[in-house]
Amino acid sequence: MTAIDVQRDTLVGFHIDGSRVGGEGRRQGDVYNPATGKVTKKVAFAEVQDVDAAVASAKAAFPGWHATPPARRVRVLFRYLELLNKNVDRLAELISSEHGKVMSDAKGEVMRGIEVVEYATGIPSMLAGQFTESVGTRIDSWSTRQALGVCAGITPFNFPAMVPMWMYPIAIACGNTFVLKPSEKVPSAALLLADLFYEAGLPKGVLNVVNGDRVAVERLLEHPDVKAVSFVGSTPIAKLIQIGAITHGKRVQALGGAKNHMVVMPDADLNQTVDALMGAAYGSAGERCMAISVAVAVGDVADPLVERLAERVRALKVLPGTNPQAEMGPLVTREHRDKVASYVDLGVKEGAKLVVDGRDIQGEELGEGYFLGGSLFDHVTPEMRIYKEEIFGPVLAVVRVKTFAQAQALVDEHEFGNGTAIFTREGDAAREFAQNVQAGMVGINVPIPVPVAYHSFGGWKASLFGDHHMHGPEGVRFYTKYKVITSRWPTGMRAGSEFSMPVMS
Ligand code: NAD
Repeated sequence: MTAIDVQRDTLVGFHIDGSRVGGEGRRQGDVYNPATGKVTKKVAFAEVQDVDAAVASAKAAFPGWHATPPARRVRVLFRYLELLNKNVDRLAELISSEHGKVMSDAKGEVMRGIEVVEYATGIPSMLAGQFTESVGTRIDSWSTRQALGVCAGITPFNFPAMVPMWMYPIAIACGNTFVLKPSEKVPSAALLLADLFYEAGLPKGVLNVVNGDRVAVERLLEHPDVKAVSFVGSTPIAKLIQIGAITHGKRVQALGGAKNHMVVMPDADLNQTVDALMGAAYGSAGERCMAISVAVAVGDVADPLVERLAERVRALKVLPGTNPQAEMGPLVTREHRDKVASYVDLGVKEGAKLVVDGRDIQGEELGEGYFLGGSLFDHVTPEMRIYKEEIFGPVLAVVRVKTFAQAQALVDEHEFGNGTAIFTREGDAAREFAQNVQAGMVGINVPIPVPVAYHSFGGWKASLFGDHHMHGPEGVRFYTKYKVITSRWPTGMRAGSEFSMPVMS
C-alpha cells in the first residue's frame, strides 16, 4: 500500500479493494478549512460504478474473512490499535482542519473511537452461542450468531473519526465486510483510518471507503449485495434511510438529530452545573448530537443560573481550533454558520430574551472563518421554534419551570429523545428521572452521558429509527444474525416419516 499524505492531496478520493483510488473524472465538492474560510482540497463524489466496485470488493472478501477464526480476525484489530494510538495527533489534525473543532476535542473523539476498537477485540467471546444437550432423545441443539455479509455505514460531519468507528470495527470483528460513506464535508480522516487498518494486516476488500453525496447513499441503499445499513445524521435523512433500507429488504439502524435538555434542580451545585453546561452547550461549537441545547431551570435556580452562565458565555475563548487557548472553534461551513445565526434572529422575533448575542463576534484571528460566539437565551417557551428545532450550534436556551414534574414533562414531550441530564443533590428526583424519562441516554450530574464502548449508544423517539443502538452489545446483535442448529446422529433403526408437527421426546 502506498502511504499517501491526504493533507497534501488536492483531490480526496476513495479506498477500494485495499488501495487508495484517486477519484479523477468524478463530480467534485469543496473541502474547507472552517477556521480560514478557504477551500483547501476537493473531494471526489462517487458515482454508481464506484459504489458497485466497493461493494463487489467487499462481497468478494466476505467468504474468506467470515471463515477466518474470530481470534485471528481480532489479532488484526490489536495491531490496528497500536497504529491508531500512534496516529492520534495526525488524525486529530485532519479532523480539526476540516471540521474546525479544537485539537483537544478532536483528540478526544479519536480516543473514544479507539475505545470501540478495544471493545471489538473482545468480540470473539460475544459470538459464542449456547448449547443444550438432549433437547430430545439423543438430540442436541445449539445457537450461534453469524455475520451478515456486506454492511454499509453513512456518517455525519460532526465526528469524522468517532462515528465511523462506532460501526466498522464492530461489523468487521463480527466477520462482515464494510463500505463506509463519510460526510463529504470531512472526507479525509476516514481514508487515513482505512490506510492504518490495511497497514495492520486487514485483507483487501474488508473495509472500503467511498466519499460522495446522495448518489452514493442511494446506490448503497438499493444495492442487492448490501445486507445492512448503519446511519448517523439528521432526522429527515435518517427517516429516508430507514425507509430506503427497509424497502430494499435490509436491516437498518438510523440515528437522527437531537435537542438535549439538562434539568437543573434548585438544590444543584451551581458551580458544577455552570461548568458542565458551558462544556456541554458550547463545546465543539454545539455541533454534537449530545450537546445540551436546553437548560430547564426548576424553581428559583433560574436567576442565579442565567446570571453566572451569561458571565461565562461572554468570556468564551472563540479561536481557530489549532490555537491551544481555544475553547470553541468555528462552525463547519458558512451556510451552517448563517443558519445558526438566523436561529438567533428568530429567537429574538419569537420573544425570547437574548442575554448574550454571539452574532457579531470579532477578533484578529477570526478572519474569514465561520465563527460565531456563544449565544444564550432566557425565557424560552415550548411553542417557540428555537425550542422545538435542532439548531446544532452554540446557542443555549433556558426554559423556566416551577416543578420537577413540569421539567420532566418537557423532556418526555419533545420530538427528540437522544440524551438528557439532571443536576441535583436529591436521590429521589434523580432516580425517578433516570427510570421514567423518555430518552435513550441519561446523565445524573453528568452533562453528556455518552455511553462507553461496552455499553451501546442510541436515542429514542426521532433520534433513532430501527431496533438497535450502536456499538457495544447492541452493535454485535445488529451485525450478526441468530441461528439455531438441532442435531441427531441416528444409528441402527429407522424412525420412519413423520407427518405431524415434530415433538421432542
Ligand atoms: P446529514 O443528515 O446532513 O448527513 C449525514 C450523511 O447523510 C452524510 O454522509 C451525507 O452525505 C448524507 N446525506 C445528506 N443528505 C442526503 C440525502 N438527501 N440523501 C442521502 N444521503 C444524504 O447530517 P450532518 O449535517 O452531516 O450531521 C449533523 C446531524 O447529525 C445533526 O442532526 C446531528 O444531531 C446528527 N448526529 C446524530 C448523532 C446521533 O448519534 N444521534 C451523532 C452525530 C450527529
